[in-house]
Amino acid sequence: MTSHSVNYNLEDRSTKDDAWYKCGVVLEHENRLRVKFKNLVQPSNDEVFSVSDFSSNDEIDIFRRRFRPESEPVGEDECRKVAEGVMVSAVGLDDKQLRYFDAIVDAVCHKEHTPKKCLCTYFLYWQHGPEEGIITEANLDDIHLIKHGPVDPTVVNFTKLIKEKIKVKSASFEFTLIPKNTNISKDTSSNETITRPQEIGSAGNGSHVGLSAGKELEGEKETKPYHYIILENLEKDLCPLLMTDFIREQTLITAQAYVFPSLLLETYTRGVIMVDDETKLKKIYEFINNPNQLIVSSSGRPWVLAEDELRNGAFNTNLQRFQPKYKSCSTKNDLMVVRLGTEEYAKAKELKDLYLMFRNHLNGLLKRLVMEEEKITRAH
Ligand SMILES: [Zn+2]
Repeated sequence: MTSHSVNYNLEDRSTKDDAWYKCGVVLEHENRLRVKFKNLVQPSNDEVFSVSDFSSNDEIDIFRRRFRPESEPVGEDECRKVAEGVMVSAVGLDDKQLRYFDAIVDAVCHKEHTPKKCLCTYFLYWQHGPEEGIITEANLDDIHLIKHGPVDPTVVNFTKLIKEKIKVKSASFEFTLIPKNTNISKDTSSNETITRPQEIGSAGNGSHVGLSAGKELEGEKETKPYHYIILENLEKDLCPLLMTDFIREQTLITAQAYVFPSLLLETYTRGVIMVDDETKLKKIYEFINNPNQLIVSSSGRPWVLAEDELRNGAFNTNLQRFQPKYKSCSTKNDLMVVRLGTEEYAKAKELKDLYLMFRNHLNGLLKRLVMEEEKITRAH
């Protein structure tokens, strides 16, 4: 494979130093994906993945998230695009090497300047890399705009090949949101079919995850403190996995998500995003609450925070068992960020305002209900 035939249209997030590197991919022999790095073209620097390296959907997800479309430099006359709250890719400051990490634009100091040379100063809040958690100053030259969109079809085709292989290998394996238990795969030899017969409901001999089913239901054990926020106005058929993928893509935080069943009359539903750490939740909250953008489904329905509060509490970790079962995440219900100033944003904002108006009515009625209930209770 000659390097000049490679289309360097992707970025790969390295597992070694967590930085993003420009790369291109080539499918070889219908079962291998070769990742070539733009600045390290010698074949010895390539990373090669084989279909047989993967054995679960989780692994495919992790692999898919390594890649995204190549981020783009910003034109000197387009500096207004780098607005407060936008996630950008920027040059890490720790060394001479050009390594890119993600950062949120915390503040912008605009200056009058010609369209030829931007003189603005940007303050970046680093999301990972050596500067993680701190704010540093940057120029426009240091910043690339992250592109959100489909990655190179070669990556997609490769993941399809893996999925087909996994499907054949474990036809009876059904995906659930049970936290990954390493013992299950370790104790099972690689060519055995993995089945989890007691996955849903059955209180029989459910001790394979190291818990008795009885205890799980009583909530006596395996409770963990969680930090969470409640969301409203979600699509009724939103898949929690899609939520967690989206959150991870946008904030680099691994969260858990649950979507609750809704009433038949309701056109929306509620859900929860949970993490094990308050700082992580704050980041997610800031992302969802960013006034420069809204999160919408493909039909345009905007996410709404149910309360302006970060909550915490213990949850039975097997609460997931009561999650409606999703066979697969349909692409029908995609999630995206729409930015202030766009037509999509204007529509989403109108829908959000309408929803908030409705909810205020509802909250008024709820207060009334509490009062009326108290009256009856006191009278008896
Ligand atoms: Zn500027």
